[in-house]
Formats: sequence, structure tokens, C-alpha cells
Amino acid sequence: MKGYKMEYKYRCSSKGSVNNGIKKSCDFEFLFAEGTYHCPVCAAPMVFVPSVRSVGRLLQEGAQQERNASQ
Ligand SMILES: [Zn+2]
Repeated sequence: MKGYKMEYKYRCSSKGSVNNGIKKSCDFEFLFAEGTYHCPVCAAPMVFVPSVRSVGRLLQEGAQQERNASQ
């Protein structure tokens, strides 16, 4: 698909204070293409966060396909 770019939400996996306690916590989130990333703030690994919106869309599409199949 031309111009279509998959993006995934990633969140910093660090727990508790980071940068030697300078920051109380790091909740850095960002959209990336699929891959492996590290937090630019505290260098902890970024973990993939399933997007609620895209899951909802998938369910909608699934329901639509079911409707089409039963017609
Ligand atoms: Zn971080």
C-alpha cells in the first residue's frame, strides 16, 4: 500500500526513578515503526503497547466481515 506506514505505540519499560533519581519516573511513549527501541530519556528498553483504538478497529472489521459472510 503506497504511503501507508505501520506505527506502533511503545512505552518506556523503566520502573521507579531514573537518571539517578533526577526524574521520579519515566513514562515516555512514542509511535515507532515496528522494531526494537530504547528510551531516549533513560535508555531503558521500550515495550510495545497494544493500541486500544486499532484493536477496536480490528473488532469492527471482523464484525463487518461476519455480516458480509452471512448475507
Ligand atoms: Zn525512559
